[in-house]
Amino acid sequence: MPAKHICSFCGREIEPGTGKMYVLRDGTVYYFCSSKCQKNMIELRRIPRKVRWTEAYRKEKEIRLHVLRRKADEGENSGSSEA
Ligand SMILES: [Zn+2]
Repeated sequence: MPAKHICSFCGREIEPGTGKMYVLRDGTVYYFCSSKCQKNMIELRRIPRKVRWTEAYRKEKEIRLHVLRRKADEGENSGSSEA
């Protein structure tokens, strides 16, 4: 059974037999599902965390929202206890 890989940029699973394995001179291995992901990573040097259609961005956003929500809750609690 062929090994399944996850795209290094968008974070999606790559269909076996498709995509591209990209090896840098320092030995770092990237897997890309599409030329779109490859160009964003290699040519445009974008960080997956900052591109809105990647899995990394969604995870980051979830964490950010969680932190914001917790801050809001703490703010409400402290406000009510003081009053
Ligand atoms: Zn991809």
